[in-house]
Amino acid sequence: MKPAAWGLAALALVAAGACGSGTEPAQPTPMNVVAEGYVKLVLALGQHDAAYVDAYYGPPEWKTQAEQRKQPLAEIDAEAARLIDAMGSPPAGADPDDLTVLRHVYLRRQLEALRARVRMLSGATFTFDEESQALYDAVAPVRSEFSFQITLTELETLLPGQGPLIERYDAFRKDFIVAPDRLGRVFDAAIAECRKRTLPHAELPAGETFTVEFVTKKSWSGYNWYQGNYRSLIQVNTDLPIYIDRAVDLACHEGYPGHHVYNALLEKHLMRDRGWVEASVYALFSPQSLIAEGTANYGIEVAFPGDERLVFEREVLFPAAGLKADRAAEYSRVQALVDQLSYAGNDAARRYLNKEIDRQAAIEWLTRFAMMSPARAEQRTRFFDDYRSYVINYNLGKDLVKQYIESRGGAGADPARRWQEFVRLLGSPRLPSGLRPAS
Ligand SMILES: [Zn+2]
Repeated sequence: MKPAAWGLAALALVAAGACGSGTEPAQPTPMNVVAEGYVKLVLALGQHDAAYVDAYYGPPEWKTQAEQRKQPLAEIDAEAARLIDAMGSPPAGADPDDLTVLRHVYLRRQLEALRARVRMLSGATFTFDEESQALYDAVAPVRSEFSFQITLTELETLLPGQGPLIERYDAFRKDFIVAPDRLGRVFDAAIAECRKRTLPHAELPAGETFTVEFVTKKSWSGYNWYQGNYRSLIQVNTDLPIYIDRAVDLACHEGYPGHHVYNALLEKHLMRDRGWVEASVYALFSPQSLIAEGTANYGIEVAFPGDERLVFEREVLFPAAGLKADRAAEYSRVQALVDQLSYAGNDAARRYLNKEIDRQAAIEWLTRFAMMSPARAEQRTRFFDDYRSYVINYNLGKDLVKQYIESRGGAGADPARRWQEFVRLLGSPRLPSGLRPAS
């Protein structure tokens, strides 16, 4: 379908829907029209919130129109409400896994999240959990300090010595920093391996590619800016030391089979093959982000089942970084425990954003329970300032995606089945609340 044609068709159909107040019952607005309205509202909201439009590769004139007329927030909200009303319901009894049903439910929920973001930008305040439910369709569980303490006690045994655990951890990690002049070759090797592992399972569009840039002075550690045409720009923040495990994390999360593949498959299957224009825009503060971050994080396990990551790191990345390969297993054991503390990061964000604790107390909490160095913890609180409850998308997102894929036969000794379910999820418009395990 030719994108430019949609503008006129949409105007005509929206006008017909808006005037349908006579005796005849209003017909639901066709989904392509709702989708076009949704894209335009996301672009309009982007004029009020610089981070909101994370990617857009639809008709360029829609973006120009949004820039030329800064639509007031109240108007954006009213139009979103009108679209939700006009879209009707999916056919009764339809298969909930059918793509057209998923599309319907997805667009409605994305529009509701857009309305929540409008309320936030208009001055409404939400608690952390209210906000994550409204924007990301999910609420992260609260874990007890006791559960973190069990993991910290295990770490104590792996990192014996005097002084606070975080200082011992920092000292231990110094041996695993990748020198700046080796970053390029280490990341290149990791990206090549992740791509090689993804290709047999995901049919990637011809010409897909990305470039990597090293940047500074950001509150995030890495970012994928999807450009459309199956291309991504991946930025890596070098403000803080980069440890060897970041190579596989970043190559999988930002690249293969993470964000780059996710965006490329949405562009191919939904936007180009079906003409579903909503796929051409990515609203950052929306349920889509939980799926994006959750698949990007779970994708690491999909690409490297069992101990394959350790083997690859030990045999390829440690030597490329000039690090001692015989310490790879030790480092991997420590990192696996630190990963178990990820929910402590959510708790710090929840308390900080609910104004129960100040920045200094949040830094101390992250240092104590999430094993972040004070510098990293400070960077993380700035991430909380910028992205707020977005933090749940990484760890809760991963857990929900993992649970979903594994409940559909992707668990255990069948990596091919796991890939199949994973790739299907990447190319479909599924919501976080739609990740309930299959019974
Ligand atoms: Zn990400």
